[in-house]
Amino acid sequence: MQAMTADPRHVLRQVFGYADFRGEQQAIVEHVTGGGDALVLMPTGGGKSLCYQIPALLRAGTAVVVSPLIALMQDQVDALREAGVNAAYLNSSLDAAAAAEVERAFLAGTLDLLYVAPERLLTPRFLDMLDRVELALFAIDEAHCVSQWGHDFRPEYRQLSLLCERFPRIPRIALTATADAPTRDEIVRCLGLAGARRFVSSFDRPNIRYTIAAKGGGDTRRGLLALVEAHPGEAGIVYCLSRRKVDATAAWLQARGHAALPYHAGMDAASRAAHQTRFLREEGVVMVATIAFGMGIDKPNVRFVAHLDLPRSIEGYYQETGRAGRDGLPAEAWLAYGLGDVVTLRQMIEGSEAGEERKRLERQRLEALLGFCESIRCRRETLLGYFGESYSGPCGRCDNCIAPPQTWDGTLAAQQALSCVYRTGQRFGAAHVADVLLGRATDKVRQFGHDRLSTFGIGSGLDERQWRSALRQLVARGLLAVDLEGYGALRLTAASRPVLKGEEPVSFRTDSAPPPRARRRGDGRVAADPAAAVDAALWEALRAKRLALARAQGVPPYVIFHDATLQEIAARRPRDLDALAGIGGVGARKLERYGQAFVDVVREHAEA
Ligand code: ADP
Ligand code: ZN
Repeated sequence: MQAMTADPRHVLRQVFGYADFRGEQQAIVEHVTGGGDALVLMPTGGGKSLCYQIPALLRAGTAVVVSPLIALMQDQVDALREAGVNAAYLNSSLDAAAAAEVERAFLAGTLDLLYVAPERLLTPRFLDMLDRVELALFAIDEAHCVSQWGHDFRPEYRQLSLLCERFPRIPRIALTATADAPTRDEIVRCLGLAGARRFVSSFDRPNIRYTIAAKGGGDTRRGLLALVEAHPGEAGIVYCLSRRKVDATAAWLQARGHAALPYHAGMDAASRAAHQTRFLREEGVVMVATIAFGMGIDKPNVRFVAHLDLPRSIEGYYQETGRAGRDGLPAEAWLAYGLGDVVTLRQMIEGSEAGEERKRLERQRLEALLGFCESIRCRRETLLGYFGESYSGPCGRCDNCIAPPQTWDGTLAAQQALSCVYRTGQRFGAAHVADVLLGRATDKVRQFGHDRLSTFGIGSGLDERQWRSALRQLVARGLLAVDLEGYGALRLTAASRPVLKGEEPVSFRTDSAPPPRARRRGDGRVAADPAAAVDAALWEALRAKRLALARAQGVPPYVIFHDATLQEIAARRPRDLDALAGIGGVGARKLERYGQAFVDVVREHAEA
């Protein structure tokens, strides 16, 4: 469908079915279509793809898109083809015959977009092909893969600098959702983009609701279950630190009737791939995974991301939670956090092979994250502030804004805790210290004679949950240290002294651990018209139709229509193709192919 018309808005409507550009999209599209280079920083779900796909259709020649993952390319190409665009990919998943066919089409100039893996692009054979074809532009997706410090580092990305040396006249657009300044500078340097115009969007994800809950006493699993049950039939990701916990958590959810699947690097490649495919192609699969799962997961309707262990940094937390709600519909980020997490992460940092400088950076990152968890400020404010963006809450969509946490004067409790740690010899973990404070004569307490200490039972004014919370906050603030060689024994620090002597007041945050409230299907989830009630039966019928069409084509359901589109159909109930055409996400090609099927569902439902 090359050289259709020179109007970006027309392409947006005709091909992609959207009425208007979002945010910076229009400026980017115009700049690149006009032949300019661009660096695009936009959060996940911001709509980066259109920024190069529309210029690819408007400019003569084929656009070459560098993409790091096979799954990502397949998804994009499936979706483009559904929209009637001539797109293809070249990667190791194709056999020789299929690859040869794509190459023929490329050389014949019939492709609008060609997706390639970086290692393929860099081969002499492919570079030679590039010399013989008219090129519309180069798009470098997931451009942060050039960064050695990020966990998505791909050495081949560094060599992409040769594109500007070898094809100086072809516009280049690099895109990423990674926000921090060092990564941004590395992209510019490594990809030769010093002269490129920068488009930096806000990194706020307004549709994500952030909640941080305290761990302990079975609260984590109860909270997780409540979260999963609040999203029946919907997809989510549950992150755990260890493989063992991934397996155990997936089995636990399965036993409660949920479609949960494990995913970690210890599984064989075939079952990993099978689980990933089920997650993408079915509705309502909960993936329980280590962070090995995530990059390149383009699924737009992930409704929740849970962390059962603390991520390593605020940046990591932001990226992982960012996989929820790419489609812009409400989504939840839920993190359970406890003292054990602090101990584990500190142990991992200290025990790693990394040099002292790197360890120092990691410690700083962890401290920033702990501060975020314990903060009583708007989560969004802290999160965006970390990326250098000023935002002032309350946002109304984080736990601290929805139910502002109370604080309590913990000066006395802190003194009691520190003194109990001291009297028990700075050799015991939080659970034992709490037992002594509460005056519980357990076997261990009696064995060490701690029932005869002056601090035995002095803390009976608080309950176990409150002591767990207080000890965690003391550690998070550095008023207690955790012995990393031993078994998480608590000891005093230089900062403990003024508190012990009553010279420094301490204030604690009251933990709130309300499990996420259960919700009716469709509740508050209509993007276009919040006032319109979505009929549950119609919604299910539309989803069933979509799933059947997707199965027949061998593509994920969201390639047919996104949830946002389906919800708008459910809300507006179009009775004919004209009415359906006015709905966001319904382009000309999809209208022709699937329009009648969905209109029929609406009609049948009205009659029933
Ligand atoms: P990113 O790559 O930045 O994470 P995508 O390009 O996948 O984001 O887009 C995220 C979602 O937003 C997709 O569902 C896409 O179809 C939708 N989208 C993008 N641009 C628009 C727009 N102008 N109007 C409506 N929806 C859009
Ligand atoms: Zn807030």
